Amino acid sequence: MERVQNITRGVRVSEGQVTVIGAAERVTIVAERALKSGTFGVGALLIGRNGRVFAEAINSVIQNGIRVDPTGHCERQLVDWYFQNRAELKLPHPSELLIVSSLDPCNMCAGSILKGGFSAVAVVEEKRGGVHRDGVPHRMPRELWEIAENRLGLFSIHSHYEEFFSISGVSHKSEYLSFLDALALRCKEAIDESVKNVDLVVRKESEEQIQKKDIKALLREFEKELPLGIELPPSDLNTISGASKQMLTELLRDGRTCLVDGEGVPIIIARSAEDLSPIRNSVLEISRGYVSIRNSVYDNYGVFLPSHTTMSILKHMAPSTPLDGLLQLGSLGNFLGIEFKSKFALFTFLEGSEDQVRQWMSLFPPIYTDYERFSASLFR
Ligand SMILES: [Zn+2]
Repeated sequence: MERVQNITRGVRVSEGQVTVIGAAERVTIVAERALKSGTFGVGALLIGRNGRVFAEAINSVIQNGIRVDPTGHCERQLVDWYFQNRAELKLPHPSELLIVSSLDPCNMCAGSILKGGFSAVAVVEEKRGGVHRDGVPHRMPRELWEIAENRLGLFSIHSHYEEFFSISGVSHKSEYLSFLDALALRCKEAIDESVKNVDLVVRKESEEQIQKKDIKALLREFEKELPLGIELPPSDLNTISGASKQMLTELLRDGRTCLVDGEGVPIIIARSAEDLSPIRNSVLEISRGYVSIRNSVYDNYGVFLPSHTTMSILKHMAPSTPLDGLLQLGSLGNFLGIEFKSKFALFTFLEGSEDQVRQWMSLFPPIYTDYERFSASLFR
């Protein structure tokens, strides 16, 4: 039976009403809770008008010492949670909602927030991976700068978020700023401290990795257990280098993404689930899907499939809009990590503009510039 993945495991329904400073304080406490649970120390809240709290989320990349969801950042989870629950919980329109985060969003999360139609504000800037630099959210495609300036902010700089709070809770501006500085320090400590924990998990993963000779045969045995939306490539397709453009076009139909190992062998395919949430494109689906399969195969067979850092992504079309570029390329940064070591480009596509992708990537935060061979078109 196909299994539905839990893509919002760090979210819990919440309630109450907060002031501006109350929101910053509460999200700091959530970030510290995330740190204690052993994952990245980041938290977020979903807030409506008048400071009404609807939900809170902790980062859920790591759970019980295992990497369970490379896309498990708080803001991405809250956006998906919103689209799963908006009808049942009668949630307001996204334009009436604010995501409050302890840490400046990464490109994937910024893409999720903007594509979902939300606004966001963060307690502290993140130098290596955040979209802000010196107070402006410009580490993204230039076409998005204006919308990002209007909808993504920092407590210390922008005031666009204040309209969400009828009670400001701020009596003296200087008092507010010094309290905010203290909270920013705690949020920074929560993320810095957690990076050490997460490094241990990642090292353990790669030490325990056992190369299984025939991954394809192993996955065939496992086919009935695959997460919903994940398929296996046809058994006669051995490597992408040997395949015709027609075969690959069929493989990648309807926006599907294929994960290819370091030898060019197609491993799994993911369908888009954008009918459920606008940010569930097949790139995010395949990231979560592969990590979930890798964990399940280990539980069932006691062997680890190769680490995702040895894999590449194959799509029919390169992202064609700046927003899709932000979301898809941003999620790959979180999935494939800086240890990327495939001989193929990290992101390969059959059609679309490589120059366009490179131009967008050149504005991304420093963690992305580590990928020298980020994208390439397979057929020119
Ligand atoms: Zn993120």
